[in-house]
Amino acid sequence: MSNIKIELTKNPKPKSKNFNFGKNFTDHMFIMDYDEGIGWHNQIIKPYGPLTIDPSCSCLHYGQEIFEGLKAYRTKDNVIQLFRPLENFKRMNASCDRMCIPFIDEKIALNALITLLKIDSEWVPYEEGATLYIRPFIIATENALGVHRSNSYKFIIIMSPSGAYYANGLSPIKIFVEKDYVRAVPGGTGTAKTGGNYAASIKSQNIAKKAGYNEVLWLDGIHRKYIEEVGAMNIFFRINDKIITPKLNGSILCGITRDSIIQLVKDWNLPFEERKIDVDEILNAYDNNTLQEVWGTGTAAVVSPVGTLGYNNKILNINNNKIGDISKKLYDNLTGIQFGKLPDQHNWILKLEND
Ligand SMILES: *Cc1c(COP(=O)(O)O)cnc(C)c1O
Repeated sequence: MSNIKIELTKNPKPKSKNFNFGKNFTDHMFIMDYDEGIGWHNQIIKPYGPLTIDPSCSCLHYGQEIFEGLKAYRTKDNVIQLFRPLENFKRMNASCDRMCIPFIDEKIALNALITLLKIDSEWVPYEEGATLYIRPFIIATENALGVHRSNSYKFIIIMSPSGAYYANGLSPIKIFVEKDYVRAVPGGTGTAKTGGNYAASIKSQNIAKKAGYNEVLWLDGIHRKYIEEVGAMNIFFRINDKIITPKLNGSILCGITRDSIIQLVKDWNLPFEERKIDVDEILNAYDNNTLQEVWGTGTAAVVSPVGTLGYNNKILNINNNKIGDISKKLYDNLTGIQFGKLPDQHNWILKLEND
């Protein structure tokens, strides 16, 4: 069984209805250390609070770190459940591999998360559509300058309550197609959820925000022509009733929401292709009036309809800036499964048992 040391807080925090996502955290966090020669050890759940690290700590200088993102949902019957959590820990290990971080035991990580969730279960929101966002991450902690693989690490899980993503219903977003900066290249770190990818994206995101866009759509790093993905979302198009999404190519992050959406599309026997998509194909489809829907997929928004695409001074208005039928149906179905309103035909749900 579990050998997690547990230190409960003496000062539980008040829970506010104003979730202020990403800024408020639950009462506790999980930490596990790695040291060369020992492996992962020292599992502890303790009050949420600052870490003490040496200024020479290697992650601060060379960015050897990775993270994950998933959510806990409360059903109408008051059951707390997770959506495909083992997939997150598998992907975490894939990120570990790329970043030379020692692998974690996926079962131990999941057990740690479940134990933490049970302790902080009251933090899983009761409000319709609200969730508890879970952020597992690993940082390199060797106290030494010089670029090399760290000999010590910390695996940490923190959790932040999050209000309904679409407080005012699903509203389409504006996306800027980036042709000057790139996110990832073949052989790079695009498939790893590692901090550096996101640090490198902020400049472009700022430019897009100044121009009135919500997000950036990245093109491939070599030709600047094939569609890759959005900030923290994969992307889908519906052209002439066919649903298409870029094929995973070694620089696109393999979203768990993407994979689940593809499964639903297949379940419904909708025409579907996973392949290279030239940005010109999207522009042509728009000109021919066959571009019906565009949407992003990711844990945070689940399905995010795209109402506007801006590329090279050209503005594409998609589906009159309204949510498309398929985007809506996918959103309703996937969130329905996540919140336990619809049957879970693919064994995606892990319910927390009350004990
Ligand atoms: C996390 C992330 C996604 C979406 O992954 P999900 O598992 O669906 O949340 C897509 N692209 C990038 C770059 C990401 O960081």
